[in-house]
Parts: sequence; structure tokens; C-alpha cells
Amino acid sequence: MDVATLWQTILADLQLQVSEVVYRTLISQTNLESLNEGQAVINCNNPLLINMIEKKYQGLIKKTLENYTHQEFNLVFHAQKNKHSNHIDGPLFTLKLPDPLPVNQLSNRINPDYTFNNFAVSSSNQMAYAAATHVAKNPGNSYNPLFLYGGVGVGKTHLTQAIGNSVLNKTPRLKILYCTGEEFTNEIIEAISTKTTTPFKKKYRLVDLLLIDDIQFIAGKYSIQEEFFHTFNAIYQVKKQIVITSDRPPEDINKLEERLRSRFECGLTIDIGDPDFELRTAIILIKAKQKGYLLPIESAKLISANIENTRKLEGVLTRVYSESQTKNLPLDTELIKNILGKTLKKNPPVKIASPEEILTVVVDYFHLKIKDLKGIKRDKIFVYPRQILYYLLRTESAINLVDIGEYLGGRDHTTVLHGIRKITNLLSTDEKVREDILGIKNRVSA
Ligand code: ADP
Ligand code: MG
Repeated sequence: MDVATLWQTILADLQLQVSEVVYRTLISQTNLESLNEGQAVINCNNPLLINMIEKKYQGLIKKTLENYTHQEFNLVFHAQKNKHSNHIDGPLFTLKLPDPLPVNQLSNRINPDYTFNNFAVSSSNQMAYAAATHVAKNPGNSYNPLFLYGGVGVGKTHLTQAIGNSVLNKTPRLKILYCTGEEFTNEIIEAISTKTTTPFKKKYRLVDLLLIDDIQFIAGKYSIQEEFFHTFNAIYQVKKQIVITSDRPPEDINKLEERLRSRFECGLTIDIGDPDFELRTAIILIKAKQKGYLLPIESAKLISANIENTRKLEGVLTRVYSESQTKNLPLDTELIKNILGKTLKKNPPVKIASPEEILTVVVDYFHLKIKDLKGIKRDKIFVYPRQILYYLLRTESAINLVDIGEYLGGRDHTTVLHGIRKITNLLSTDEKVREDILGIKNRVSA
């Protein structure tokens, strides 16, 4: 592994060990400059930050580094002079204000990976998903504003950006603006202090779709709320779409002006619940698929049983993958158990559904007969339900491939394997398949 990749892996690991704020403001700002002869040189372009990192996180970084290299290192921290900035000695947490974006680049802030297709639907988010797809189909003509709220990592940003991606794909000429409540605030402050409020207003008011993430940030900031109120009205009156997210419902946002609150409430407000084990497993499988990793379902389940925070799932996945590459090991549960090490607490819930029960539910769900699935007919209407059945027998009642083959009238285990792989792949790309699996599972556990 080269130094840059090694550092990326270590950063992913550290992200799991410190709080998000510490990671974002301190740890993620570092680079591994060199690594040789027992010495690791770590730099960052802010001297105050590097001091703080050295004082507080040296031990943790050292331990994590040695964990990957299996060698001891003396850590040297130093600030790298940044050629492009004269302000390296400035205050610790100066906010770098984003440069105003030219209108045709507004949509650049939208991450192309956050699509509806890459979004797993479950009972905790299906209302939000349905509303978001509806808004994406008819921006400005359906729920306005759409207000989504929920805790950390429930997929608010993902869904919001999926609306952006979908609209952008269908109608590229539309002006879409995504920003966070914090960025909105910073830009107003900047505009006021540099007397450039006209371009600011133009930028925010003349859009077809405004996606504003984490609006709770403007609570208590009255002049910001005032500006937001006018922005909101300008967009709303010309029937353009607004989508807002928050970590809590409008009525719980403290110090939110009443007139804003009632504006928010005149659209549709939906909450997104915390993802359960099944949904987290689906999310990991989607992420793995996107990155081209061959992650077995059992491994995905083991990770999801142990990592509740969806934001950390991706970090764990990166770590697991890079470890498997370095050591040339498969992405199996052994590897994951080793990596999660002391933090490994739980095994995935063990399913107790019997094969008979699963068979009955699948047959029922697709309105077929048992002999259709156990039989040999290869008609299209039987093949897909049969593959779903293989998949569920494997994942829900955990019988092995050979026994599944036997149970279903003496099929070869490679046929079963092929079917399971097919469904596993479709699960991360095809909404219909996810719906079917979810629908069937709900009946199995009912
Ligand atoms: P929030 O904005 O609510 O804090 P995010 O949208 O940032 O959460 O989601 C955190 C991570 O989890 C992202 O990587 C996102 O893609 C992923 N994620 C969350 N929910 C889902 C889901 N239902 N399907 C796929 N990925 C999801
Ligand atoms: Mg978010």
C-alpha cells in the first residue's frame, strides 16, 4: 500500500474512534508526509490544529498506525506552510466562506451517488421516500415545501440530493441549488459585510428547486431568518419547489419565528426513523456494490449488527476492504471480526424462520402454487420467485446451498448459488426487488 492509501485507511479507522466534530475539524485535516526508519511525519497546514492534534491524539494515531504497519514509529507533527494562504496563523476555527457559485454550476454541490436508485427503502423511511420521488416528478406542483426531519444518518441529505439528481437528469436546464442552513447563514453574513446582497438574492431567489439541508442551524438567528423568509416567499410565490431538512420537526425548532414555522407547516412534513438492522444491511450492500467490492451478505450483516451509525458504515467498509487487499484475504466474517476487534459486540440476529414457512409466504406473495416453485418449469413467471425463494432460504433460515437445492426438488447447488447472486445484485439496484423482499420478510416475521 502506498503512503497515501495507507493514510486514507488510517483516517477511516480514526473516524470510528473519535467524535465526528474531532474528526472533521482536526484529524481529517492531516496528511502523512513520510514514513521511514521508524519515523512517521504527519502534517497539516494549520499550526494550531497540529499542536492540538499532537497533544490530544498522538497516542491514538500512533496506535492505529502501528496496527496497520506492525512496526513502531516515532511520530513527528509539523505544520506545513501553505503556499496559497497568508493566514495560517489566523483564528482556529475561521469559517471558510464558500465562493458564490455561478448559476450554471449551482448543481455541482449535488453528489451523483445520492440517487433514489441507491436508496434502500424500509418501513422507517418509505413515506419520506414516496414523498421525495413525488416531488422530484412534479417539482413545484406537489408538496411545497417538503420538510423531512430525523436523527443523524437517517438519509435526509441522501434523499434531498436524490431529488436534485433526479430533477437534474430529467430537466438539466432547471436551476437547482443545494446548500446547508449553515452555508446559507455564512453567505448572508458575507453578503452583508461586503455589501453584495443583490447577487445573493439573485442566487437564492431565482431558482427552480431550492434544497436546504439542516435548516435548524438558522434557529435563533433573527436576521438570517428574516432573509430566509423572503427567500422562501419569493420561491414559493412563483411555484418553485423548496425542500427542507432538519434534525427535528418545525414545532421543536427553538427560536424559530412563528411565521417561518407556519410556512414550513403548510407543505408536507415527514419524519424518518432510525434505520433498523435490515436497512443498515441493505445500505452496506449498496455501498459495497457502488465501490465494486464483493461483500458477502453474512459480512454485511455482521457489520450492520455492530455499527448503528450509518455514517460510519462507509468508513468500516473502506477499512475492511483495504485490509483485505493488503493481506490478500476475502471479505469474510473472520476478517470483519478481526477488524472490529474489541468493539465487536453483537452477532447478527439469528433467524428462526423454517423453510416451510418461507416457502408458504413466497408462494402466497406471488400468487403461485408450491409445485410451481418446486417444479422444473423455466417460465419467466416462476424463475424470479424461485430466485427470491433461494435468497430468502439462505438468508432467513440459513440452510446451506445443497440443502436448498434438495428441498426444492433436487436442484443443483450452483443453480441456487446463481439465483442468490442474482438477487443480491438486484437488491442494490432495483427498487422492485427490494420491495418484494421487504414485503415477504414482513409477512414471515408477522
Ligand atoms: P442525514 O443527512 O440524515 O444525517 P445522510 O443522508 O448523510 O444522513 O446519510 C448518511 C449515510 O448513510 C450516507 O452515506 C447515505 O448514503 C447513507 N444512507 C442513509 N440512509 C440510506 C438509505 N436508506 N439507503 C442508502 N443509503 C443510505
Ligand atoms: Mg445530512
